[in-house]
Amino acid sequence: MNEVLSVSNVKKYFHVKKSFRDSFHLHSDPQYVKAVDDVSFKINKGEVLVIAGESGSGKSTLARLVLRAIEPDSGSIFFEGYDISRKRGKELKHFRTKIQMVQQDPYTSIDPRWKVMDIVSEPLVIHKIYSSRQELENEVIKALENVRLEPAPEISRKYPHMLSGGQRQRVALARALVINPKIIVADEPVSMLDISVRAEILQLMKTLRDRLQISYIYITHDLSTARYIGDNIAIMYAGKIVETGPINKVLLNPLHPYTQALIDAVSEPDPNNLQRDKTIRLKVGASKTEVGCRFCQSCPYSMEICSQDPILEQKETYHLVSCFLYPKLAPH
Ligand code: SF4
Repeated sequence: MNEVLSVSNVKKYFHVKKSFRDSFHLHSDPQYVKAVDDVSFKINKGEVLVIAGESGSGKSTLARLVLRAIEPDSGSIFFEGYDISRKRGKELKHFRTKIQMVQQDPYTSIDPRWKVMDIVSEPLVIHKIYSSRQELENEVIKALENVRLEPAPEISRKYPHMLSGGQRQRVALARALVINPKIIVADEPVSMLDISVRAEILQLMKTLRDRLQISYIYITHDLSTARYIGDNIAIMYAGKIVETGPINKVLLNPLHPYTQALIDAVSEPDPNNLQRDKTIRLKVGASKTEVGCRFCQSCPYSMEICSQDPILEQKETYHLVSCFLYPKLAPH
């Protein structure tokens, strides 16, 4: 089977605690943050899906849902055809051997008191996937070689403070790879690294993808690194996917105003172009609407219908209708 993960109509709302004053209003409605709201996507074997959006768009909550660190309120998550959205116990533990995470900060994601050997072998120990100490060490050495940390036996005896930022992120990658996962969720894996090291880590991830047929969910706000590694992209805004498709198609011909704004935010490497006009200027200071499109408050193309039609809040496809019809209109 080519499809490894299928997420359908997943929702996760967080209850907002009432303030002390509001707690006296017994009949006030409970309030929720719609962190992930009716999100669907699929990933095939060896595919890199980029989930892009600004802070607070819901991409990290979506990652936690996919990792089954939290349970969805509704919707389903299928891994290789099996519904894992509400699995517990042994079945959940087994699923967790198939999906691993690489976090953003290699300085805090690995324990500074442990040697590389202990850090990388931890998933094998937790899931009891080894029969002898020798086998455990061999698997760690193999994983370190896979991420090009050599000489691997020497590296395995070091502590994290003896390594550079790029080497630490390679250790985090080796730790994720050591139990042969099918999917790696990489949450901004290069954003804390020097610019010179970023390309190396991204190239390494691509090589591992080609060699081991691993799929990645690559979470980022940086579209320049996204384009380097991604096959497909999903743009998230306020808990919803507002635009999705093959990465070159979406980034070269963005249809949604929010995607256009994200592309505009990418740093301009050519100093001659620094003064170029932005393709979109977002509105600031407009009040939020409870119905209609969630991007209404910032969208320069917004029309009356955008903040009135509840269907625009329900489905991103409808939500895009007005954007598709009027993308070239002058902002009003
Ligand atoms: Fe802008 Fe309206 Fe499209 Fe929302 S639905 S992005 S407000 S044009």
